[in-house]
Order: sequence, then C-alpha cells, then structure tokens
Amino acid sequence: MEKKNINWSELSFAYIPTDYRFVSHYKDGKWDEGKLISDPECKMSESAGVLQYAQTCFEGLKAYTQKNGRIVTFRPDLNAERLISSCRRLLIPEVSKEVFLKAVDETVRANAAYVPPYGTGATLYIRPFVYGSGAVIGVSPAPEYEFRVFVTPVGPYFKGGIKPLKITVSDYDRAAPNGTGNIKAGLNYAMSLYAGYEAKKNGYSENLYLDAATRTKVEETGGANFLFITNDKKVVTPKSSTILPSITRRSLVYVAEHYLGLEVEEREVYFDELSDFAECGLCGTAAVISPVGQIDYRGGSIQFKSGMEEMGPVTAKLRKTLTGIQNGDIEAPSGWIREIC
Ligand SMILES: *Cc1c(COP(=O)(O)O)cnc(C)c1O
Repeated sequence: MEKKNINWSELSFAYIPTDYRFVSHYKDGKWDEGKLISDPECKMSESAGVLQYAQTCFEGLKAYTQKNGRIVTFRPDLNAERLISSCRRLLIPEVSKEVFLKAVDETVRANAAYVPPYGTGATLYIRPFVYGSGAVIGVSPAPEYEFRVFVTPVGPYFKGGIKPLKITVSDYDRAAPNGTGNIKAGLNYAMSLYAGYEAKKNGYSENLYLDAATRTKVEETGGANFLFITNDKKVVTPKSSTILPSITRRSLVYVAEHYLGLEVEEREVYFDELSDFAECGLCGTAAVISPVGQIDYRGGSIQFKSGMEEMGPVTAKLRKTLTGIQNGDIEAPSGWIREIC
C-alpha cells in the first residue's frame, strides 16, 4: 500500500478529508448494516434533532503505526462502551460494541494510506459520532439517526509540542451536578467555546473548570482530565461524577501503578491545595499528557516546581511509557492493543 504524499511531521491538529468513512442509518426502530462510502457530506432534514436540539455525541481515538509496520488502535472497546453511555443519556439508540469496533477497523483499513508512518510523531485521529438526523420540532428524541466514523491524520494537539502550558481558571462552569459532564456530548463543547475564546484572548492555552456546586474543587479542562504529582511522587487525579472518564487518564493511572510503581490517589482535589503539587498534566487522546507549568486565577498564580521550560520528571516518564505502549516499543497489558492491519 502506497502512503499519501503528506508531510507527516508538519501536520497540525486539523481536519483533512480522507477517502472513506463508515455510515449506518437508524430507521423504523433499527440500525442497518452500515457501509463505507466516499462522500464526506452529511444530508439531513433542516429540522434534524442534531440541528435543533443538539442530539449528538461522539468519540475520539487514534490509530498508530508500530515499528514493525502494523497499524493498531488503543483500547477501542472503552470508546465503544463510553459511546453507549453517552447515547443512553441523550436517548440516542445505542450503537453496539461489535458494530462500533467493526466500523473503526474498516474505516482505518480503508484509509491505511493516511496512517502516519512510525516515528513521525503524527497519528490517525478517528472520530466516531452519532446524531439525530430525523425531523423534530416539538422537543423529543429524533425518529432517525446516523452513526458515522471518519478519520484524519493529525500532528500534536498543542502547537509547540510539549512545552509546559499556562492555563487559567474559568469564571464559567463546564458541568452541572447531575448534568452531562460525564458524557462525550457536543453540547458540552458548544458552551465551552466562549470561555475558551476568552482564555486564548488573555494568552492561556486552556481553562481549568471548578465544580459548579461549590467552586472549590478541580474538575477538568474543556477536553482533558488532570493528573497531579506530589513532592514525594504520588499521582493524584480528581474524582467527580461530572468529569468525563478519560481513557488516557485511566490508562496513565494503570501505567503509574503497574509500570512505574507509583502510588495513585483518585479523590476530590481542592483548588486550594494545588500549590502543594510538584507537577501537573492534562491528559486526553489528543494531548496524551501535556505538562502545565502555571495556573493563573483571579488574584493569584500557581507555579509548579517543574517550571515553564520542560516537563516534570514523573510526567515525562508517564508520557514516555504510554506512548511506548501505543507505538509497540513497550509491551502492552493484555487487551490494550487491537491490530487492524
Ligand atoms: C474526550 C475528553 C477527554 C479525554 O478523554 P480520552 O478518552 O482520554 O480521550 C477529557 N475530557 C473531556 C471533556 C473530553 O471530552
């Protein structure tokens, strides 16, 4: 298979249409078989549930080329399970795990020419999503849906790579108690755009969101979970029912315990204790783990010991181990790597 003529190491995190996408329709109470198509456009009613009432959810994962040339995905079964829980909360008919995995495999295989080669730092980003395509006008779940998977080759999420980030504390809230913070829904992103725009305008890469009920506890950023490292190298990660259960974070917690022999605490993390931590990182599929050097807030600033020049030593080890597992340089726990071709 001949690769596309792409400058892999110069890729940014942006959409490039590829040759094939998977699409399946839900109508009359059931999903059809689904198939690969080449048309990148979606056609739907002007009154589609997704357009009028934002009835949609999505997933994000990556395909990697390992040293031996194999193309693999990382823990796609967890993405399938998370999409099911997002669908349930939004009254979208569930996409079964089998169909999800088949759709991801087929879409990646059909676009193998777009999977960045080993060692380029680039990956193939995979975006499965479901949306209400049938017409509604009264507020109700749509009568018809589409499940789609497309892929696009991407470079690192944060430009400038792994320099520590400066972030700020948002005045806006991300997720209400008992709201939708724990599902991967587009609506959680629409409402974060304005807060993100303000943060960027003021020179910050991201917003830290506090818990909406008390505004004393750390939740996450718009699209990544937090990991903190204490002075004695313990890993601490916020526990809350309103953060999105990041697969990267869950994997890094396992790596910390089982590969690096570190102690991990998943617990409520108060904003007031942040200055006690030595390192801070943001984790998600797009960012892997990106170091945070500084957090500014109304009337103050927290500087982590790891500083603004480079990643802290524990964050670096976590990153190196997880990317090593994904690239096949380090042996993966059983079931983490799914071979595609
Ligand atoms: C997708 C997402 C993450 C990261 O999850 P991963 O499974 O690690 O990619 C974190 N927070 C939010 C709000 C997200 O939507």
